Amino acid sequence: MSTSADSGDHYDLVCVGGGNAAGYLAKTLVDLDWAEGKKVAIVSGEPVAPYERPALSKAFLHPPGAKVRARLPGFHTSVGGGGDRQTPEWYDEHKIDLMLSTMAVSLDAGAGKLTVQGAGQSERAISFDKLVLATGAKALTPADIKTENPDLGNVFTIREEAEALEMVQTLEANQDNFKDIIIVGGGYIGMETAAAFSGWGFNVTMAFPEKHLMQRLFPESVAEVFENYFSAKGIKLMKESMVTGLVPSESDNSAVGGVKLKSGDVVNADAVIFGVGSRVDTSLAESAVKLGEGRTGGYAVDDSMRTSNDKIYAIGDVAALNGKSRYEHVDFCRKSAAQAATAIAEGRDMPKMDYLPYFYSRLFEYTETPLIFQFYGDSSTDGASIEVFGNVDAAMETSGNDKVPGFGAAWVDASTQTVRGLMYCNGTPEQYDTAKNAVLTSAKFSPTMLD
Ligand code: NDP
Repeated sequence: MSTSADSGDHYDLVCVGGGNAAGYLAKTLVDLDWAEGKKVAIVSGEPVAPYERPALSKAFLHPPGAKVRARLPGFHTSVGGGGDRQTPEWYDEHKIDLMLSTMAVSLDAGAGKLTVQGAGQSERAISFDKLVLATGAKALTPADIKTENPDLGNVFTIREEAEALEMVQTLEANQDNFKDIIIVGGGYIGMETAAAFSGWGFNVTMAFPEKHLMQRLFPESVAEVFENYFSAKGIKLMKESMVTGLVPSESDNSAVGGVKLKSGDVVNADAVIFGVGSRVDTSLAESAVKLGEGRTGGYAVDDSMRTSNDKIYAIGDVAALNGKSRYEHVDFCRKSAAQAATAIAEGRDMPKMDYLPYFYSRLFEYTETPLIFQFYGDSSTDGASIEVFGNVDAAMETSGNDKVPGFGAAWVDASTQTVRGLMYCNGTPEQYDTAKNAVLTSAKFSPTMLD
């Protein structure tokens, strides 16, 4: 049942979505003293305050006994960006109304009204002067990709803390019973979960359709280094293997017992983790604001993160900068949140946001020999060649217990020989800085540029 908003339900600003972007929005509003004396609400479907989501596929999954195992409240926003740990008490202290386990059900943009519903409660209307859309993305589930028997037990996706916690608790409870874990997908989630769970002592197999790991970014020779290292750690790689179904266990037909591949082969599994991509959901406001062009998806925003409706902003994964580019990464989440909060707090148009795409991954961090990479810039290969440089030959020779020496790959513009994108593995902070600057200044490529 809907109730109409009374004056007590009116907010200067409502943020829909309580992920990391919402946390950084709140941080900047507080830093700029704007939240003081204003009514601000964050409407979050999750039951916990915003947190640094990247931890979920990294330190959250470290093996039992590891020095670091990230758990809330340890990684609430904005510890990753060097700010306060924004626990629920922090929001109370700053008088930000954190509506947890609450969904935004519908939006009437013209009237400035939002209908929200808390778990087990009736719908109610709240009104706003400004709305920020920060609904992020959801992991694609086995059902989303039309996998047979999608609802079997011990099958997991990781996007929210509750999902990661359920997975970790299940694996902890079954450390002596479970032997085989299959990871479906060869991208970020696939690589990070495989690296983590190999340290738990499980037999880990990755199944993915591409010819090599992280095909959307890595050139083949870089992937080979990672694949050698993964194999040395005992992780089995099933390349060119599309998972089409889940198979029930013989002893318990409500739980998974294996995965079925397109070839018809069945591979045994006690638990299966899907890292097969994510999808942004624009259902709440798609009739209220313009969407990103073509296949970009998300809500089109300008440099102030303002949508086509000047009361409504979008930040994080769901924001399509200038209608053209979405960046599913924590770096853009933080920067776009700060950009929107500053535009709102200072009531001005922000200068052009020259966003430099940045991605990183950190694997095997619970060991003495982690494998880390950072990428800056443009990874498209149109009119570019990819040059691999540094200690790549030595990196290929390392066993799972040796430190992989630094090496990189540059995306070099074919006509100007300048660097459009740079990736470096196991570098020093200075080397990553140099890599970033080389891309920012369109430096000429040289294989010794990071020496
Ligand atoms: P990715 O897009 O990185 O990788 C998805 C992988 O799943 C690809 O290898 C894809 O192959 C494969 N795949 C799809 N369908 C099947 C199938 N039926 N059987 C086997 N493999 C299949 O997505 P992730 O799930 O890894 O990550 C989701 C998002 O989370 C990313 O976009 C990223 O933004 C974010 N993330 C980022 C991290 C970081 O930056 N370090 C860490 C964790 C998450 P194909 O491409 O051929 O379909």
